[in-house]
Parts: sequence; structure tokens; C-alpha cells
Amino acid sequence: PTSTPSNFIKNIVIEDLKTGKVSQVITRFPPEPNGYLHIGHAKSICINFELADDFKGLTNLRFDDTNPVKEDTEFVEAIKEDVAWLGYQWDGLFFASDYFEEIYNRAVLLIRKGLAYVDDLNADQIRETRGTLTEPGQNSPYRERSVDENLSLFEQMRKGDFQNGEKVLRAKIDMASPNINLRDPVIYRIVHAHHHNTGDKWCIYPMYAFAHPLEDAIEGVSHSICTLEFEDQRPFYDWVIQECEMPSVPRQYEFVRLNLTNTVMSKRKLKLLVDEKAVDGWDDPRMPTISGLRRRGFTPEAIRNFVRELGVSRGGGASTVDARMLDHFIREDLKLKALRTMGVLNPLKVVITNYPEDQVEMLEAENNSENPEMGSRQIPFSREIYIEQDDFMENPPNKYFRLFPGNEVRLKNAYFIKCNDFVKDENGKVVELHCTYDVETKSGSGFTGRKVKGTIHWVDAKSAVPAEFRLYEPLILDDEENEGASFLENLNPNSLQIVQGFVEENMKQAKPHDKFQFFRHGYFNVDSKYTTDDHLVFNLIVSLKSSFEV
Ligand code: ATP
Ligand code: MG
Ligand code: MG
Repeated sequence: PTSTPSNFIKNIVIEDLKTGKVSQVITRFPPEPNGYLHIGHAKSICINFELADDFKGLTNLRFDDTNPVKEDTEFVEAIKEDVAWLGYQWDGLFFASDYFEEIYNRAVLLIRKGLAYVDDLNADQIRETRGTLTEPGQNSPYRERSVDENLSLFEQMRKGDFQNGEKVLRAKIDMASPNINLRDPVIYRIVHAHHHNTGDKWCIYPMYAFAHPLEDAIEGVSHSICTLEFEDQRPFYDWVIQECEMPSVPRQYEFVRLNLTNTVMSKRKLKLLVDEKAVDGWDDPRMPTISGLRRRGFTPEAIRNFVRELGVSRGGGASTVDARMLDHFIREDLKLKALRTMGVLNPLKVVITNYPEDQVEMLEAENNSENPEMGSRQIPFSREIYIEQDDFMENPPNKYFRLFPGNEVRLKNAYFIKCNDFVKDENGKVVELHCTYDVETKSGSGFTGRKVKGTIHWVDAKSAVPAEFRLYEPLILDDEENEGASFLENLNPNSLQIVQGFVEENMKQAKPHDKFQFFRHGYFNVDSKYTTDDHLVFNLIVSLKSSFEV
């Protein structure tokens, strides 16, 4: 009995355990610390951790830090925080850079076996002589260097005797292979740069395709799961394991990567958004990063349920998932948990002219109409309240059931009020309504004397707490434009809208990351960056309605 639904990788694991090919399941999540994690990474995280969990296995968090120029400890810390927040505990915490000595020794072994050589061709020349799908590549003039010459040149590379790009180490496989990845791939390059973990110890660094299988083998990883772009690399992955004579044999399996509509999902582009200040950081609530989703108000449960629903497949069909599917899961998660309260955006003052001055009464309000266990609260009501500007029209169209001169509506949790008059400012904008209330119509009193068609929400003016509401739309409007390098110029100008308003008095206690449903508006999260002791800021997580069904 296992906890996650069946999928092709899981079936492979079951088979491997049955035949004894594998005795313990070990997986890894191997991010490069060159940016923050995004929702696509969440898919990989869930798959790796849950696959191991299902078979009482282990999962390592391994930083694939083989490119010193782009990597930083800020990213290492952020990645650890995000994986833990998603609810996963890694068994081992490793850095590929901790294996540099061993990886170097395996490269030396390849040289000794005549399976690697130092090449003086530069990057352009290597690309030009690699051939195409229909044309074989050409051997490098340096391909036949002796083992001894290669050994001493590689040692000199390590010592720092050469400049960046002057030499590389290449695997010696087959320049005519139908798989271009096997045409003598570069396995080491010279990079004179400070490394976040190893400092200035190294000036040569292994290439990802060479280092990754070795890292997996060193950790005893049984199933190395990656996205489909790496399928063509699998023969080289297996070649490295075999020719480097690794005692443990990991195997690579590929699944389809997650893409979301209206969402950029490459760290390179996300970094551009941050660096160009199109957003206010990696954790901007519009970002598809884990930290952005967290600040926006998504929960680990919602993200995990979303990823589970996606399943694990080798592809076929459309691979771009509707972003509204993620919204569906956060609504589901918060539906019974979030306090339902009244927030007024764009407020309009209402004076209830027949309500006694200086009187305040407390009214009862349910905390969650779908979850009675959440109980109720007391909210103040007095002569002046705020409603939304949208809930009044001087000249309403047909079927407008909210307030207009002469019309009566229900105030949620309170009384019926009727609009008698309104006040305009010098620009002709309505700034105040004069209404009367009917004491008989008190909510919960069982009043049946007459019916009204509209119910609107409100907050008591004297006690209400000012609040800022940040409303979001997707950053990216069009998925086509998302492809070009110019995507920065095609960002949605309305992706952030800031609105002022009021919330109920008892919201004074709200803390960053508390989540609420504001009647009629949707789910909101208290922003962790801009909220201060006397300034509440709410992020719209998601509106109430959805046209999306899973
Ligand atoms: P990006 O292209 O967004 O920069 P990456 O693949 O370069 O991502 P890594 O840090 O190398 O980022 O990724 C760590 C792991 O997460 C890899 O195993 C990778 O396959 C996986 N991963 C990255 N993006 C996605 C995605 N969109 N869907 C599923 N898995 C992903
Ligand atoms: Mg990468
Ligand atoms: Mg585990």
C-alpha cells in the first residue's frame, strides 16, 4: 500500500525492488543555486520526495553548483527554506562542489583509459566541428594526444596555467555518433572565478552532463529523475557511470516538465524580471516562485495537491497546464479554513440618519458559513458605516439590486437600509449616502415582513481599520510573447493594482501570512513585506469564482 497514485516511474521502482536490482530507493532533488525555486521545481520536489517516501527510501537535497559565475549562497538559503516550507525533509544535504576532488579523479581515470583528451579548440570551433543531425562531426586535431601529454596538460589546467577557454577536457567517444551528445562532449572547462562553496580552490569545473551522473553515483541514488529535455543525454549518463567505473549504478528517468499558461518559468527570465525591477523581488506575489506564491498566500497543501493532480508522465498531449488549476486548489484548501470577514475596497460613507448618535451595538457574524465549527464573532454597528462605491449607483441599470435612491438592501449581518439622499463633492462624485434603517429587520431576528434583492457588505466607520489591498493579474498576458527575448516589454501593465479601504476592527490582530476570505471579493493573505504594526496590507490570492473545474 503506497500513498501516491501509480505512475510509470513508480511502476519501475516496484519492479526494481521485486527483481532485486535495487535494494533501497534513493532519490535527489538537484537544484542549481542560481535563482529561486519556482512552481515547476515544486513538481520535481514532490515527485522525488514522495517516490522515496512511498518505499521508505531517502531523498537528498543536492546543490548542483558546478558553475561558479551564476551561483550564490543567497540562493542556497532560499532553496532550503522553500523545500522545507513545501513540507519535505531531506535526508542528506549535499553540494556537488564537495565532490570536485572525486570528479577530478574520475576524469583522470578516463584520461588514463584513453577516453578523454585535452583539446585546444575554442568553444566556437568545437561547435562548428560537431556536425549536424545528418552530418558526422570532425575529429579535433588534438584528439590523438598521448595519455601522458593529456595527464600533464589536465594537471596544468587545474594549476591555473591557462586562461578561460584556452583548453577543455573532452570525452573521447565517437564524432560520428547519431547522438550528438556523444560526439566528444566537453567534460571540464577553465573558469577563473570565486566559487560560493570552494572559494578559489578550483579554476576548472566539470560540465553538468559529466558531473551529474557522478554525483548521483557517489550518493548511491537509485532513480535519478529529471525532465524530458535530458532524454538525449541518457546514453552519455550511462557511459560516464560505466567508464568512470562507479561502484553504484543510478539510472535516469525522464518526466514531462511543468509549464503554466501566462507564466514565465525559466530562472533566467525570472532573474531578468528581478534585475530589471519589473517586480519587487524574487518573492513578488506575481512571481511563480515558491517564495512569491507563499507571499501571495498559497499554502504548501494547495501546491502539493496541484502537483499530485498533474501526475507523472512521459508526456504526450499538451504540456502547458492552465494556471487556473492552481487557483482551484488554493480555493479548495482555504474554503473551510479561512475566516470570512468584511473588507471594503474603495469605501463610500453611509450615514444612517435614524440611528441614535453615540450608540454602538454588537452584532453576531458567522466566521465561516460552510464550517460552523469556526463559530462566530461580534462586530460593531453604529450610525456611520462604509460600503463599497460599487454598491451604489445614482442612475442604476435594470437588475441592479444594490443601493440607489429609494432602494432598500440588506446589510450583511445587520439591518435593511434604504437610501434617501446622497452628497456630491465639487467634481460631482458621490461621497456620502444618507440612509435609514429598519430596526425590525435585524439579522437573525426572523423578520419576514418584506424581502429585498440585494445584500451588501460594510464595516463600522468609527472602529474600522484602514487597509491596503493589492490586486493581481498575470504578469504575462500572451503566451506567444512570452517566448521572445522582448517579453519584458509585453508585461501586463495592470498586473498590480493597489486599492485602499477598510477592514473590521478585529483584523487589527492579523499577522503576516494570515488568510481571510473577504465577502464577495475572494481570498487574501496578509503581506509579509509591507505590513507594519499600523498599516495592514492584503494580497489577493484568488477571487471567489472560477470557470475552471478539475
Ligand atoms: P530553469 O530552466 O527554470 O532555470 P533548471 O532546470 O535549470 O530550471 P535546476 O535548478 O537545474 O533548474 O532544476 C532542479 C530540478 O528541477 C531539475 O531536476 C529539473 O529537471 C527540475 N525542474 C526545473 N524546472 C522544472 C519544471 N518546469 N517542471 C518540472 N521540473 C523542473
Ligand atoms: Mg539548470
Ligand atoms: Mg524522506
